[in-house]
Amino acid sequence: MSIGIDIQLAIELLNSNKLVAIPTETVYGLAANAFNENAVLSIYKTKNRPQFNPLIIHSNSIERFEQWGLEIPNDVRLLANKFWPGPLTFIIPANDKVPDIVTAGTGAVAIRVPNHPLTLELLSKLNFPLAAPSANPSGFISPTSALHVDRQLGNKIDYILDGGICNVGVESTIISFLENEPKILRFGGLAIEEIEEVIGHQLLVNNTSEKIVAPGMLTKHYAPNHPMFLVDDIVKALEGKNRDRVGVITFSNSIINIPAKNQFILSKSKDLNEAASNLFAVMRNIDELDIDEIYAEKFPNQGLGYAINDRLKRASIQE
Ligand code: AMP
Ligand code: MG
Repeated sequence: MSIGIDIQLAIELLNSNKLVAIPTETVYGLAANAFNENAVLSIYKTKNRPQFNPLIIHSNSIERFEQWGLEIPNDVRLLANKFWPGPLTFIIPANDKVPDIVTAGTGAVAIRVPNHPLTLELLSKLNFPLAAPSANPSGFISPTSALHVDRQLGNKIDYILDGGICNVGVESTIISFLENEPKILRFGGLAIEEIEEVIGHQLLVNNTSEKIVAPGMLTKHYAPNHPMFLVDDIVKALEGKNRDRVGVITFSNSIINIPAKNQFILSKSKDLNEAASNLFAVMRNIDELDIDEIYAEKFPNQGLGYAINDRLKRASIQE
């Protein structure tokens, strides 16, 4: 395995149905030829990802998805023209070219044009889209640098294309266009308010993903090794705690009496975009501390605050 910026090598590996980790503006992806079942199967194996969890396919333009025979609904075209390349994924009806292993047999496919110069160049030189979930073992924190990928999966993949640090830092916003009304399936790197402005009305939120499956399952998603708690009032939650033994994640304020090395402020200037871009690296760093528990405060429910709260919630113990 190696890390570098050799696009030609990445092309050769992908053409021979090997795996390559690729940079995007959201998180690093673990990519393979989306039209080749065996290549896609090795994504699932390498991540230890359950096969009922479908994958997003990536290319460099909306026209290429059309060339592969996918029918693009009008609202998708409208939003794609405005926000692609960018952190927005659409679920649309699939066709025969897309293997069941990509769609998890749902008959629907997730499509996205990511915004990263190296990956856009790579995609433009391939004759197939790339299926690419986040480049981490299933259930753990998503990688926002080549080094993160190397640490978690380095010995299992042939090449990591190094595109630096992901500047959005959380996964894409996902909207389904399978029914009459578009529906938000995942809060992510593009603010819902921006999408609603283009569509002209509020979007429905898919509540089934909100159902608590089992605490054990949720604690494993994005999970740090230390128990983590997401709280409304962090000062109150810390009352009576051994202050040397807790790590805290806050939006913009520091907390008195907690050692500075145990405190992570995601954005001193209260910028939710900056906070999102720091989130996953902070979750990794805080987990390295010699502490007993992690406390994170809830972020404002606006803009990327929805995505931040969603990831913090999935990483936390549900009470
Ligand atoms: P990841 O790439 O790891 O961020 O995960 C991709 C996510 O996209 C999955 O967990 C699903 O929630 C969603 N997704 C991908 N394809 C589909 C699909 N065909 N239908 C519904 N959701 C999908
Ligand atoms: Mg993932």
